[in-house]
Amino acid sequence: MSRASIVIVGGGVSALAAAWELTGGADGPSELTPRVEVIEASVRCGGSLATTTFSGRTVDLGADGFLARRPEAVSLVRELGLDDQLEAIAESGAWLWSRGQLHELPKGLVLGVPTTLESILHFRGVSWRGHLAAKRDALAPARLHVGDDATIGEITRAKLGRELSYQFIEPMIGGIQAGRIDELSAKSVFPALYAAAQKGGSLMRALRPTNSSNVNDTTPVFYSLADGVGSLPTHLVTRLKERDVVIRTGVAVTALRRTPAGSYPLEVDTFATTTPANGVILATPATVTTSLIGSYDPDLDALGRIDSAGAAMVTFSILRANVTLPPRGTGILIPLGTQWSGEGSLMVTAVTFLDRKWPRLRSDEDVLLRAHVGRSDDARWSELDDDALARRVSDELAFLLPKWSAPTDSLVQRWPLALPQYRVGHDQLVDRARRASVHYGVALAGNSYDGVGVPASIGSGRRAARDITALIGGAG
Ligand SMILES: Cc1cc2nc3c(=O)[nH]c(=O)nc-3n(C[C@H](O)[C@H](O)[C@H](O)COP(=O)(O)OP(=O)(O)OC[C@H]3O[C@@H](n4cnc5c(N)ncnc54)[C@H](O)[C@@H]3O)c2cc1C
Repeated sequence: MSRASIVIVGGGVSALAAAWELTGGADGPSELTPRVEVIEASVRCGGSLATTTFSGRTVDLGADGFLARRPEAVSLVRELGLDDQLEAIAESGAWLWSRGQLHELPKGLVLGVPTTLESILHFRGVSWRGHLAAKRDALAPARLHVGDDATIGEITRAKLGRELSYQFIEPMIGGIQAGRIDELSAKSVFPALYAAAQKGGSLMRALRPTNSSNVNDTTPVFYSLADGVGSLPTHLVTRLKERDVVIRTGVAVTALRRTPAGSYPLEVDTFATTTPANGVILATPATVTTSLIGSYDPDLDALGRIDSAGAAMVTFSILRANVTLPPRGTGILIPLGTQWSGEGSLMVTAVTFLDRKWPRLRSDEDVLLRAHVGRSDDARWSELDDDALARRVSDELAFLLPKWSAPTDSLVQRWPLALPQYRVGHDQLVDRARRASVHYGVALAGNSYDGVGVPASIGSGRRAARDITALIGGAG
């Protein structure tokens, strides 16, 4: 029998990780390795991972770091032989805009949730009401029944009150996901919070790391790569081509057809070609996946309910003489609906001090920083052209930072619909869809399902590769 044929739709990091796993991962290809074809709609692979040259340096346009304490991304980098390219984050800590000024966030937060009463009582960025709510959680915690799932907001509001929920916790969790705590599933987005709520008692105490967590304090929290996280797909594409993986860019998959009477059970169409396949990995956003296979099964159609938020990143270079940042830390967080001297509420949700995080970006002349705009319920950024958006964000930075005037250069990168929103019941919806997809020779990969982030997406792609291999009987 000829080699099995697997088609991977999408060319983001989850798709490329799937191709790496299908071609033997760290061990490399063998006689059992299938023919693998990756089809990516845009002109380059990488999806939300990309770099560009800005102000003479290579900067990331999407993800600019990945969690070091999750194994998936670090393992893949090592398998690719790129250990020497890992760059540890050089700074820690962050600031919160609150009650009209910047406050340094206390230590010991778990995804924005305080874990000791002392840390929050010393924090001047919340009022006596917030302090009182924290005291109540420590001394007489509210009872809460969370059932099969709950929103993050339901849990934090019941346990820690509205002020801590919206002014303290949401800027951090909502910032990472570009979503609202009242819409995001605790079980899928913040499983530790869900487990803590199920356990009952004080939320802060339940989230406190135990001595047995035994986290080695010298392990960095985040890594980047010497040429940016966006160089990871470039390295992967090079290595996959060496393994004879066919990589096609600039061609969208338009249909996935079942052909039970043909020699292959599936056919993957682009506008110009048809590739026969024994199995297909769909590593596309859930809405695209639904458009390709939703008609097969109601449980696959339900994937269309996983919608996504958009965001824009505005990167600036500014002469050191023209800017004053807070003395330490990697950036600042801004609660939604914060009023300022300009029109409407602030659009900026977070600011990242790029050259403090990543030493390779440092220069004596200027400072590089990046402002994030956009949430699931705030798409004002999409109504402004690049110049107007950069001007607006610059004005907001002048309001937020101790000193800011006349940035030298700016760069706007838009990410429409790039950040999936996991609603209550997400895990069950995905479980049902995965069980249904198996009947059609399809595996699901990507950040619509198993977690948003580079490590989770890599893990999702590798899992889909193992699933499809098992499904088609060892790809022989
Ligand atoms: C602005 C931003 C900042 C982020 N920052 C971080 C960070 O600092 N750290 C971190 O860990 N994570 C971060 N993330 C999240 C992380 O980048 C993503 O979770 C991850 O890259 C998603 O990979 P993916 O392969 O699942 O999806 P994607 O990267 O979205 O790839 C999907 C691909 O499918 C392609 N496609 C769509 N339709 C078709 C079709 N019909 N045919 C063929 N191809 C198609 C798309 O063009 C795209 O390339 C960030 C994300 C964004 C948007």
